[in-house]
Amino acid sequence: MGYKLTPEAFDGVINSLKERYRVFAPKRYELGGHFSDTDVIRYGEISSAKEIVFCEKSAQSFKEALLPITQVLFYFTEKEMKESDPEQKDVLVFLRSCDLNAVKRLDTIYLRNGEEDYYYKRARERIRFALIGCPEAFESCFCVDMNTNRADNYDFGVTEKDGVYFVDCKAEDFEYLFSAGTREAQIPPLFVSQTQTRVYIPEELDAGVAKASMWDEYDGRCINCGRCNFSCPTCTCYTMQDIFYQENGRAGERRRVWASCMVDGFSDVAGGGSYRQKNGARMRFKTLHKVFDYRARFGENMCVGCGRCDDVCPEYISFSRIINRLGEAMEEVRNADK
Ligand code: SF4
Ligand code: SF4
Repeated sequence: MGYKLTPEAFDGVINSLKERYRVFAPKRYELGGHFSDTDVIRYGEISSAKEIVFCEKSAQSFKEALLPITQVLFYFTEKEMKESDPEQKDVLVFLRSCDLNAVKRLDTIYLRNGEEDYYYKRARERIRFALIGCPEAFESCFCVDMNTNRADNYDFGVTEKDGVYFVDCKAEDFEYLFSAGTREAQIPPLFVSQTQTRVYIPEELDAGVAKASMWDEYDGRCINCGRCNFSCPTCTCYTMQDIFYQENGRAGERRRVWASCMVDGFSDVAGGGSYRQKNGARMRFKTLHKVFDYRARFGENMCVGCGRCDDVCPEYISFSRIINRLGEAMEEVRNADK
């Protein structure tokens, strides 16, 4: 069912939701941006509708709501172990179509890639989604070429235009939230159909592209800060940490913490081995994971074209540009093999 709501009525929706859910949305953090006098839009818990930023893209994704940056899995003593407590409240997240498609990638990795991840599943079962409609694409978005510009797995969708909130409610148990609005037959959320940034993934892409010379360029340009991974809604890697409360190591907690394939130490292994030491090799690994090997295994690209990695890279390295260089790189490798 569709609804039109005033800002006051939509604020009432958020207030009702807060009784049962922790509500996360893109919000403004003043003076928290790249430079000392700039703001940043990132995800956080909101307490009123006016905190939701509809007209700018968030630098970070919704991912923290499902996969905290640091998460205690269990506590241990010498003789016993206790699982960490689940969140007290359920969670509702406002997110765009690309990010809702990213949820599918997270589900694939954590639930359909061998054993189900217990902690992810625990959080996933308690999360609901509100889709933010996109009247137009932001500069670095390339969702249309990645086929993620549309999504339908939301509980309700909302598009804000000139102070009016247009809602498309799919979940029956949420219909009561919008009783203060004007009922409409249907108000589908807005989806973009074109983007300024375009990408082309060559049909004939194969693993041989790893031998191309383009990767060497990133040995110098990339500073392995990992921002691209941490802003990405589809990066799923983590590392484990045991924190001991006592010097004898017999009591403590095990945590999992976000990790990044671009930073030093990610591929260190027992015995002193370390792989992909050069930044270009890391870039090659990340790129092919996002647009080649994940697709070969699961039938769709891992990258959802949100463009955040382009937005946050301090070295102005553009991932969409890297994708667009793959055709030329394949040709170079083919010619060298002749
Ligand atoms: S690789 Fe970049 S564009 Fe693709 S989903 Fe991750 S952050 Fe978004
Ligand atoms: S954000 Fe840019 S500089 Fe930092 S690791 Fe990613 S590509 Fe390299």
